[in-house]
Amino acid sequence: MEKREQLYSGKAKSVYGTDDADLYIMEFRDDTTAFDGLKVESLARKGMVNNKFNAFIMQKLEAAGVPTHFVRMHSDNEAVVKRLEMIPLECVVRNIAAGSLVKRLGVTEGMDLTPPTFELFLKNDALHDPMVNEYHARSFGWATEAEIARMKELTFKVNDVLKKLFRDAGMLLVDYKLEFGRFHGDIVLGDEFSPDGCRLWDADTRKKLDKDRFRQGLGSVVEAYEEVAHRLGVPL
Ligand code: UDP
Repeated sequence: MEKREQLYSGKAKSVYGTDDADLYIMEFRDDTTAFDGLKVESLARKGMVNNKFNAFIMQKLEAAGVPTHFVRMHSDNEAVVKRLEMIPLECVVRNIAAGSLVKRLGVTEGMDLTPPTFELFLKNDALHDPMVNEYHARSFGWATEAEIARMKELTFKVNDVLKKLFRDAGMLLVDYKLEFGRFHGDIVLGDEFSPDGCRLWDADTRKKLDKDRFRQGLGSVVEAYEEVAHRLGVPL
């Protein structure tokens, strides 16, 4: 596979074209940002850890019937992925209250959410990713009713698979964000699944093992990601 020109560079990943019109190479960089890019740092090994972690999770999801854009690893910090037409929405499921939900609704962090909640956010840094609803998504043409239903179905399926996977390794999947795209008419999971885009707590101590360590300046960020990978048996 021939890696071609860089097509896009976001806050933590870059995307390259390839000699196959259906495939991209996605590079996981060490760059780490929070608060809409206000806090930026380079954390050694993070790109490699997230690439390998993402590959492991995407393969688990694919095996459970969730179509993903992941094709194979390309190098320590790159993956070959299908070229999706991305939908500009973030799908968030929450099992336990944390983060923006706690601020928005004034609830206590750590409260169990039964059933888990589902939220949509518009991907727009300039507007600080505002929360939107399904009617906004349809009225502004970001996704059709059928696409929204499918994204919701797949996002909850991911919850069934990953809640158990993490629980069996002594962790609580607090919340997570997924992004989807279109590939030859199907809705396919894109972007990444890593501790950068989810909250994971130790099941006994509730120690944070995710990007909140970076957001809140708790230190040992990549060490925590490596611990998560180690507990799941992800080869690093
Ligand atoms: N999230 C993300 N990217 C975003 C916003 C949120 O990956 O741009 C993830 C975040 O890591 C958490 C979940 O989505 O696992 C819910 O985030 P929340 O709405 O609580 O916002 P935050 O506290 O991260 O600003």
